[in-house]
Amino acid sequence: MNLTHIYESCCLCPRNCRVNRYANTGYCGCGHTVKAARAALHHWEEPCISGTRGSGTVFFSGCTLGCCFCQNYSISQENFGREITSKELSHIFLRLQEKGAHNINLVTATQYLPSILEALDLIKSSLFIPVVYNCGGYESEEIVKELSSYVDIWLPDLKYFSTELSSRYSKAPGYFEAASKAIKQMILQTGAPQFDSHGDIMKKGVIIRHMVLPGAKEDSIRLLHWMKETLPEGMYYISLMSQYTPFYKSGNFPEINRRITSYEYGKVVDEAIRLGLDQGFMQEKSSAKEEYTPPFDLEGIE
Ligand code: SF4
Ligand code: SF4
Repeated sequence: MNLTHIYESCCLCPRNCRVNRYANTGYCGCGHTVKAARAALHHWEEPCISGTRGSGTVFFSGCTLGCCFCQNYSISQENFGREITSKELSHIFLRLQEKGAHNINLVTATQYLPSILEALDLIKSSLFIPVVYNCGGYESEEIVKELSSYVDIWLPDLKYFSTELSSRYSKAPGYFEAASKAIKQMILQTGAPQFDSHGDIMKKGVIIRHMVLPGAKEDSIRLLHWMKETLPEGMYYISLMSQYTPFYKSGNFPEINRRITSYEYGKVVDEAIRLGLDQGFMQEKSSAKEEYTPPFDLEGIE
C-alpha cells in the first residue's frame, strides 16, 4: 500500500502536525527518510514474543511521544540513527528472518510508516514470520486500520488514563483518548490471541503493556477498570510492568525520580487479579532491575 502522500501533510500520529515532511519536520523531528539505530535479535520482550531464538527488532529513530523517563532517549529524543532506504530496510527484515527471528518487531515505527510499508511490500512473498508493532500506544485509529493487512501482533503501551499525567510526563494531553480508540481497533483487527502449535509463540493478537509509575498506582487502577469495562474479554493479553527506572529527564519531576515500591506494584497486580484480568504477564517486583536497554550502535543497520 502506498501511503507516501501522507508525508506531504503528515497525519501519521494523533499530533496531526500537517507538515510537509519532504521540507520540514513536525513534533517527532523526523524527515521522510527512515532512520534506525539497531536491528538485531532481542530476548527481552514477553516470552511469547522473544521465544527461544529472539525477536527480530528494528529500533527506529525519533518518536511521536516525549516521555521524560524514556530509556531509549538517545534514539527517540536525540534522533541518533542512520538513514536507510526502504529497499535497505527490506533486506534488514530478511536478514533477521534468516537469523531465526520469531518475528519482525517494529519498535517506535509510526513516524516512518509509509516507508516501512514500502519495505514490507517489497518482500511480501519472502517474509514468513509475523510482524509485531511495538509502540507507545499514541496512535491514530485511522492509521491502525490502514495497517490491518501488515501487522499480525500489536504490542502497544497503555501509559496513562489521566490527561494531567500524560501532559506532564509525555507531552501528550490527548494520550488516553487516542490510545483507547487505537487499542480497541487493534483488538478488532486481530481477534483473540493465536499461538503456534506448541502454544509458546504468539502468531496474532494484542498485548497491552502498562508500566506502573511511582506515585501513580491509582491511574494504573483506573486503566484496569477501563479495560475490564470496555475491552472484549479474552481477546487480549496484559503485560503489567514493574521495572520503571528513572532515566533521561525524570530528575525534573521529583515525584517520579525513584523506583516503584513493592506495595505500589502489588496493589495494581491485586486489582488486576480481582477484576479477572490475569491473562498475560506480571513481573516479580523482587526481581525488578534496571530495564534492559540495548546498545544503539547501528548493529544490523547497513
Ligand atoms: S509523525 Fe511526526 S510529523 Fe507526523 S503527525 Fe506525528 S509527530 Fe507530527
Ligand atoms: S513512547 Fe517509548 S520511545 Fe517514545 S518517548 Fe515514550 S518511552 Fe521513549
